[in-house]
Amino acid sequence: MKKPLLQAIKERPLLGDGAMGTQLMLAGLEQGNCGEEWNLTHPDKVLAIQRRYADAGSDCIITNTFGGSRIMLNRHGHANDVAPINAAGVAIAREAFGGREGFVLGDIGPFGGLMEPYGDFTEAQVREAFTEQARALVDAGADAIIIETQTSLEELQIGIDAARDAGAACIIGSMAYDVTLDGSTFRTMMGVDPERAAEFMRDAGVDIVALNCGTGMDMERARQAVQRYRDVVQLPVMAQPNAGQPKLVNMKVKYDETPEQMVTGVAPLLEAGTNIIGACCGSTPDHIRAFRAAMDQYLAARTRA
Ligand SMILES: [Zn+2]
Repeated sequence: MKKPLLQAIKERPLLGDGAMGTQLMLAGLEQGNCGEEWNLTHPDKVLAIQRRYADAGSDCIITNTFGGSRIMLNRHGHANDVAPINAAGVAIAREAFGGREGFVLGDIGPFGGLMEPYGDFTEAQVREAFTEQARALVDAGADAIIIETQTSLEELQIGIDAARDAGAACIIGSMAYDVTLDGSTFRTMMGVDPERAAEFMRDAGVDIVALNCGTGMDMERARQAVQRYRDVVQLPVMAQPNAGQPKLVNMKVKYDETPEQMVTGVAPLLEAGTNIIGACCGSTPDHIRAFRAAMDQYLAARTRA
């Protein structure tokens, strides 16, 4: 019997996966098109990306459903395909492991707008959209739900409620921080700092507190965020920084941190007590392979000590 994710991370830290969006672009998805639709129209291409992560050593794979809520899919005319797109996302991620043990994290990204009074969406609309998506992911067999790249606690709360209502076995709340202009600290676009986010997530009942993406959040900043989480809550922690900063090279977005640069941050993240380490925008299977080697080396040294 497969161990639940929360049991597995008690025994050893796990490796997440790398970017999906930038990999879909490399596979031919055009900017502005619907990457989640590819779960139905190009499942082989999504599978090929996730299989490369599994082959690189990922223990956890995040479904290609970042924009898989009704509100996001509606922008591409796919509002009626919420359930099939999310179910296919889970099935493809599972298949990427090729039968070996691995965890499928059902992905819920931001709904992509603002709620009243700042924007056009009612809380009820967002709640309905997240609940529908979470249900589709859980019903398809996701081992956890990750509500990620969140900047607002109100939206995060709705995602957490949706995951709980859907019966998710594990709920991960993941915030996106931006380093402040003076470089002294980091907070979300909506002004939330890591301590407040961690306490909020604990009180809302998440199982794992996480951070991903953001601006200027390199491996060292991610370590600081993990430390700040751990200073205020007792929960397991997940970190997925970007592969550095995006640069425009020949009209293509390239991220500037190589696997060799990024991997130096793996041991410090483990030392800080991170339970799941992955990477966000711009990272590749090569980054994840380097992470795997560094994690294995760290764990082997710890066993010998
Ligand atoms: Zn990202």
